[in-house]
Amino acid sequence: MSDLRQRFYIEESPVRGEVVHLEQALQTILAQRSYAPAVQVLLGEMLSATALLASTLKIQGRISLQIQAQGTFKWAMAECNHLGEVRALADYEEDPRFATAESSQTVLSALLKPVLFINIEPDFGERYQGIVALDKPTLAGCLMQYYDLSAQIPTRIALASTAQSAGGLLIQLLPRNNEEEQQRIDEDIWPRLTVLTETLKADELIQLDAQEILYRLYNEEEVRLPEIEKLQFACTCSKDKCATALQQIGIDAVLETLEVQNPITMDCQFCNTRYSFTAEQALSLFGSHLS
Ligand SMILES: [Zn+2]
Repeated sequence: MSDLRQRFYIEESPVRGEVVHLEQALQTILAQRSYAPAVQVLLGEMLSATALLASTLKIQGRISLQIQAQGTFKWAMAECNHLGEVRALADYEEDPRFATAESSQTVLSALLKPVLFINIEPDFGERYQGIVALDKPTLAGCLMQYYDLSAQIPTRIALASTAQSAGGLLIQLLPRNNEEEQQRIDEDIWPRLTVLTETLKADELIQLDAQEILYRLYNEEEVRLPEIEKLQFACTCSKDKCATALQQIGIDAVLETLEVQNPITMDCQFCNTRYSFTAEQALSLFGSHLS
């Protein structure tokens, strides 16, 4: 079992969903920095959540979840694009409360004045930012409430993670197109699926493969499975982006930096790639030359 996303549909119903599993990508991301156990679990859940949410959008672009807070925990972000590429990062100060974790609840309960953003960034078109209230104990609980209240699409989400693997499940009741469609639908299906979904345990979500999870939960239903999609770690950094950043800080700041650091080096926090600019390269960005 590797890094994947399995969509599913319940036949003859407006119910859709997906299961995600992350292993290599999660381990690669967690190996970039030394994160406390509770932060590892939070990042695993956030990555699973973005991989689930990305699939609900029909856009070319990316979706990210971003937590900002005051206190020892500063911020965390995870993103997934339409190609199934994920990355994540967090910044916090040492805190004994982060030494162990069962779920995202450990970090969430320690946050001061937290805000959770959902950012949707299409490659072409307008960006969208939603604000999610962090007033439920777990990340899954907060996201479900967001869908119920803001998007008004009944949604159940389950998330779980360890430092080795993470899993997520999302199931949604889509709006019916018309009354005729409404009448053909088995009215009990959503309450029934909700109850079944709630029987899923964190261990099962992390350890079992997608088909087995879906079989355990919904074997009484007719579940249709389209082709599995791959998920993987990938970073969007590049030397061009670093060059743009240098242009943005301006030539004076670049000259100042060169006095203490030549060549100028820039490290990507997501993937640890180091980009380096000699004085000549840096100055040529401004059409200037070494005198
Ligand atoms: Zn990078």
